[in-house]
Amino acid sequence: MAKITLKNLRHSYMPDPQGPEDYALKHLDIDWEDGGAYALLGPSGCGKSTLLNIISGLLMPSDGQILFDDQDVTPLPPDQRNIAQVFQFPVIYDTMTVYDNLAFPLRNRGRDEATVRERVLAIAEMLEVTDMLDRRAAGLSPDNKQKISMGRGLVRNDVNVVMFDEPLTVIDPHLKWKLRSKLKELHQRVKATMIYVTHDQTEALTFADQVVVMEDGEVVQIGTPVELFERPAHTFVGHFIGSPGMNVIPAELRDGGAFFQGQNVPLEGAVKPGTDGRIEIGVRPEFVAVGDTGIEARVNRVADVGRHNVVEAMVGDQKVSAILNGPAPAQGDKVHLQFQQSQTRVYSDGWIATDPAPQEVSA
Ligand code: ADP
Ligand code: MG
Repeated sequence: MAKITLKNLRHSYMPDPQGPEDYALKHLDIDWEDGGAYALLGPSGCGKSTLLNIISGLLMPSDGQILFDDQDVTPLPPDQRNIAQVFQFPVIYDTMTVYDNLAFPLRNRGRDEATVRERVLAIAEMLEVTDMLDRRAAGLSPDNKQKISMGRGLVRNDVNVVMFDEPLTVIDPHLKWKLRSKLKELHQRVKATMIYVTHDQTEALTFADQVVVMEDGEVVQIGTPVELFERPAHTFVGHFIGSPGMNVIPAELRDGGAFFQGQNVPLEGAVKPGTDGRIEIGVRPEFVAVGDTGIEARVNRVADVGRHNVVEAMVGDQKVSAILNGPAPAQGDKVHLQFQQSQTRVYSDGWIATDPAPQEVSA
């Protein structure tokens, strides 16, 4: 296991890149702590696989360095980096038994058969595939093949990092939640550094202690699931995480305050000096209340999603969502919206531009 450091990393697939738009990875500086459970979350095409392949050595970055425990491994090929990678689609040997498939990475490293047996049995038990060990892999369902593929990634206990690239894509929906929590449990038992790539917020938030959110070749925030929910550093994070995502409302700055359709909106803290550019107010639907006073709106739609109601209201031509636990107004009703001040922020060109809410001091 190792700490992984990415320094000034950039990557372009073009032979002669010009501007930032020619780079699949724009500029990354990331530290992955030894033993951490990380998710790399972002929409398709944002550069997740590119980043994984650079860490594993399948791809040489255009610029920058990769360090494992402060040692530069940038020029090293994959087989000298001591990593395990699990791909979107199962990588197993159809003609071998499940046992031999799981044993392969260990035998390949010259482990003795007693050690091989011990590790294979332990991993098989964790993945609940013990009863399949003697079967040939060819006959397995796609779900089980991918389980074995994951087992092959987890079976060695001497790797620097285990990386999963959207491993649950081929897994049946009803099995997905099970494997998701299984992986979390495996991390706690195996204690290896793990990087789990996904475009699915639920997968990322279930698995990871730290989530690295990427958009368009850039990291927009690294934080715990709670931090990403409570204080998105970028409107993209607010929007991408949550259901529905954060309200992002065009606004203007005047006299140090933010105004939405002419009305002053109280914020968590002061707007940072010099803030300009495209100004938006961000507030999650969980922190929008419907009351007797506040911003006038008209209810457009109410969706009962079981645990609560999602109210979609229009303020002029701007849509604002609110999540209500109590009774909800009806479609067409005139209502007033209140944003919880400590959870309401200004964003400038997408980035957070207010100081954090003052911490409450207990007497
Ligand atoms: P993700 O895994 O997040 O879906 P990728 O890392 O696969 O994203 O892709 C990031 C960007 O790089 C995309 O614009 C994609 O089209 C481009 N890209 C990926 N692989 C190649 C390649 N081998 N050659 C050229 N462009 C590529
Ligand atoms: Mg990918």
